[in-house]
Amino acid sequence: MPELPEVESVRRGLEPLVVGRKIIDYEVFWRNSVERDLEKIKNREIKSIHRRGKYLGFKLSVGYLIIHLRMAGTIGVGTEEMKKYVTVKFNLDDGNEMRLIDYRKFGKVWFVDKFEDVVGHLGPEPLSKKFNVKILKKMISTKKGMMKPLLLNQRFIAGLGNIYVDESLFRAGIHPTEKANVVDSRRIEKLYNGIVNVLTESLEVGGTTFISFVGTDGKHGEYRKKLKVFNRKGEPCTICGTEIKKIFVCQRGTHFCPSCQKN
Ligand SMILES: [Zn+2]
Repeated sequence: MPELPEVESVRRGLEPLVVGRKIIDYEVFWRNSVERDLEKIKNREIKSIHRRGKYLGFKLSVGYLIIHLRMAGTIGVGTEEMKKYVTVKFNLDDGNEMRLIDYRKFGKVWFVDKFEDVVGHLGPEPLSKKFNVKILKKMISTKKGMMKPLLLNQRFIAGLGNIYVDESLFRAGIHPTEKANVVDSRRIEKLYNGIVNVLTESLEVGGTTFISFVGTDGKHGEYRKKLKVFNRKGEPCTICGTEIKKIFVCQRGTHFCPSCQKN
């Protein structure tokens, strides 16, 4: 699933291609991908592209076009013959088409008056200056649930998904099922640094690509090669050599090192 670095990479890749362009028309190839009527986007200029958590908000001359890539979506721009798996396309005034390419077909597109109506419920943006270790400590101290589902909860913190939660917990030495309010201060500091570092490092290389994600910025999602636990079941831990284990926590496949991340 595209998480913060992948969605941000899409945003950065699209910016030079579509900002300043007018949306002339659109076509829906997979009906379920459009949640509400899109007629209002016609003949509107794309003023800027914003991201909050995993949501993309295209600021139009009036209102916002919202796209959520969900499981496996990405966005391409071009004039060449249409690729497979396009669920929605937007015709731009320079002859290009902006396309939601989504073989799993879970991606969603809709129109709203205000971006805030869509993203208002989200927790802090982990790479923003407003988010720091003090805030994270305060946020975690009141939570009694397990760490993995807590960090996946977009209302708690925005933009993290399965990959970056597993990687961040590994860097902090926190077991995925550990109760939040018992994690000591030193490891919350490591967690804060872990979250910021994995996201930043991943962004630098265009995110993580397995099969489904292709960046629009020409980067190829090379972060896959740097993952320390995610998708590395059975391989040795890069710190202690112990075999990386995969368990299920709240039905989510979860990777960790049983020696470095003790509960
Ligand atoms: Zn280890």
